[in-house]
Amino acid sequence: MAISYEWTPEEQREYSLAKLFRYIKDYVYPYHPHYRKLLKDSKMSPDRLNTYDDLRRIPITEKNDTLADQKAFILQPKTEDTEYDVASLSRTKELGYAWKTLNTRYLRDLYGKPRTFTERVKHTAASEWLPIHFHASGGTTGSPSLAMYTNHDIRKVIPMMAGMMYLFGWEPTMRALNMFPALPHLAFFQVIFAEFTVDNGGAFFHTCGDKAIPTERQVQIAGTMPFDMYIAIPSYMTYWLKTATWMIEAGEAAKPDPVKYAVLAAEPLSDEYRDRLKAQFEGIGSPDIKIIDGYGSTELRAAFFECDEKTNIHLNPEFYFWEVLDPESREPVKWGEPGVLVFSHVDWRGTVLLRYWTGDLIQGGVVWEKCPSCGLTMPVLRPPIGRVAGDFTKIKGARVPLMGFQNAIRRVDGVESFQVIITREDEADEMSGDRVVVYASLKPGSEEEAVKSQITRQIKLDTEISPSEIVVEGPESIETRLFERTGLKADWVVDRRSLKA
Ligand SMILES: [Zn+2]
Repeated sequence: MAISYEWTPEEQREYSLAKLFRYIKDYVYPYHPHYRKLLKDSKMSPDRLNTYDDLRRIPITEKNDTLADQKAFILQPKTEDTEYDVASLSRTKELGYAWKTLNTRYLRDLYGKPRTFTERVKHTAASEWLPIHFHASGGTTGSPSLAMYTNHDIRKVIPMMAGMMYLFGWEPTMRALNMFPALPHLAFFQVIFAEFTVDNGGAFFHTCGDKAIPTERQVQIAGTMPFDMYIAIPSYMTYWLKTATWMIEAGEAAKPDPVKYAVLAAEPLSDEYRDRLKAQFEGIGSPDIKIIDGYGSTELRAAFFECDEKTNIHLNPEFYFWEVLDPESREPVKWGEPGVLVFSHVDWRGTVLLRYWTGDLIQGGVVWEKCPSCGLTMPVLRPPIGRVAGDFTKIKGARVPLMGFQNAIRRVDGVESFQVIITREDEADEMSGDRVVVYASLKPGSEEEAVKSQITRQIKLDTEISPSEIVVEGPESIETRLFERTGLKADWVVDRRSLKA
């Protein structure tokens, strides 16, 4: 039975937990090398999982736990050359594959050399278990994580996730310009999944990123084909819109048809950031654009969206079991209270995680109620979303939120682009005082001294720190440094002190 988004939150949670327990019993315990060992070692029988407290006896999984042996996190029945203690496929499952094979017409048998029925049954089984698609995280936050998908995931689970973009108003007849770089990352492939697995998913043009199609060329394409939606990383979107603005003004590109949605993900999107982007969209003739935030990760294996502008990220409770835990005690917090998002996969094959600690601190908590915007009942992440570690730094002895610099500068009119560098008075001397240098490029016609004093004032308001120096320079040098490290996401704030250590 599928979940209903008309159910009460309690009914949904009960459903989600029961589905997770069935999944642990039927799939995780028999076929997951890591969790099978964990459950066996702690003498936990999957038959005795009944309540949420029972689930909490399964230890939290952290990123480091998965890095030691990522293969042990892939569901796999016993084969002749298996290196793990996992169960063989049950007789019932084998009969199920035989039955399914009788009712399946494989292209392999249309074009390939004749094969036996047993070989065809093996083919059917492989489509459930054998990984066919892979993602690796960018590694900007440490060692890369891997995620493997089987045919079962792509056909049975992914469409249920990718289809959630209908929440915000996407229609199967619309067209989208995907600006995510073509990398083995979730963000790029979530769009491919939407294109190929969801109903008649709509039309997508994949630029594959500015290394494949230079930004100037992308802007020209957008001026010749109508698009309803742009999909990008926020900092690249900013750069793209800036490029589009001057190209349109210079007559080097046509103004694109009005765009309805910009779906942005992979970087935090504050209200200041959205306002900034909206003003830029207005400049290229899309004043009614809705900016939709997205949230996903390699480990999650899917991405989630808002149901409308500023309605916050809606999560799926059918293929995940969600928990929100106190960052220190790791005890569950009440719905709507701040805590770290923790998830368990339900009904996936390939890479599977139970009680995975995302490290994402949902400062507004997770609300699970009927959404006033879409009318559906779902768990919703209330921002801001921060990292448990790494979001704050010590400057001149004070604890400063790094996001504070970005939000402050985005409120200043006249700033075109910026970068904040935190360094020391003497870079070679670890004991010397901290220095905060703001690099800014200005919009044409802005008064330099006025902008500088505004930057100082806003930063002081948000962080209680006064910048040591504000350097005004051309947009090219800032742009180059912003994307220098990753080529993907802008480094708005760089802490040089931590690079030295
Ligand atoms: Zn909603």
